Amino acid sequence: MDKRCETTDLKYRTRVGLCPTCAQVARFTFVGEQHWPPQVAQAAGLGPLVHLWVCGSCQTTLTETAAEKSA
Ligand SMILES: [Zn+2]
Repeated sequence: MDKRCETTDLKYRTRVGLCPTCAQVARFTFVGEQHWPPQVAQAAGLGPLVHLWVCGSCQTTLTETAAEKSA
């Protein structure tokens, strides 16, 4: 991992954060957005627009949770 490239800017499409699945500090890759109907979003406790990230350590797809909160 190149320290000079460490950034949380979305244009680089990666973030470093603690993965709740594998409990590792991993680099997450931005893979897209998911749109939810308002009722579904509310029931799930999510916003209507959710960013999806893939953990570089365990390859799990996550919604914007640890990756964005700890970035
Ligand atoms: Zn992980």
